[in-house]
Amino acid sequence: MAEGGTELAVRKQLPVVSDRPLAKAGLQSERVLWPDRGPGVFEREVEEIEDALLLTTVEKAVAWAQSNSMWPDTFGLACCAIEMMSIVSSRYDIARFGMERFSSSPRQADLLIVSGRVTHKMAGPLRQVYDQMLEPKWVIAMGACASSGGMFNNYTILQGVDKVVPVDIHVPGCPPRPEALMEGIVRLHEKVMAGVPPAYEIRGVAS
Ligand code: SF4
Repeated sequence: MAEGGTELAVRKQLPVVSDRPLAKAGLQSERVLWPDRGPGVFEREVEEIEDALLLTTVEKAVAWAQSNSMWPDTFGLACCAIEMMSIVSSRYDIARFGMERFSSSPRQADLLIVSGRVTHKMAGPLRQVYDQMLEPKWVIAMGACASSGGMFNNYTILQGVDKVVPVDIHVPGCPPRPEALMEGIVRLHEKVMAGVPPAYEIRGVAS
């Protein structure tokens, strides 16, 4: 069921004369004898329930489908990538989320797991890969280097990939164990199921 605010909004949107009278559904009521009469209380309640159920179930169904069919892009950069590769093994079994297919084309991926340090030279290609992914899309910064540059505080390393792509989840560690990455993925699923928009929408930056 919708929350109070949504119900109020639906109530305001209802027409004075229903375009979905119960008579169309075969229910014989006074509406058949008085077609111009506004919708009765019972009809309003039925329409509100229909609208509320439709809104909530479609949104939840889309969120469920999105969170259970994320295809990661193949983008390993350094030591963290070895830990990322392990999550497809039977021990961690990312296939249970429908995510075992690491795509070699960004056009067939909607999750970018940046695993490893990113050099300034690599920042351009990283952004290009991100731009080629279809929306909605999400980014996980895996490890200290991807999140902040890590121990490599020098002129070659980007001090955090959120300078070039909007990041949804940061996974701490050097390297994070595969369990930590799985935790980040589960947290991302929870955000999608809760209706939290992708980071590029929250930050209001061009996706
Ligand atoms: S966070 Fe640690 S393991 Fe990951 S890329 Fe950096 S140095 Fe390597």
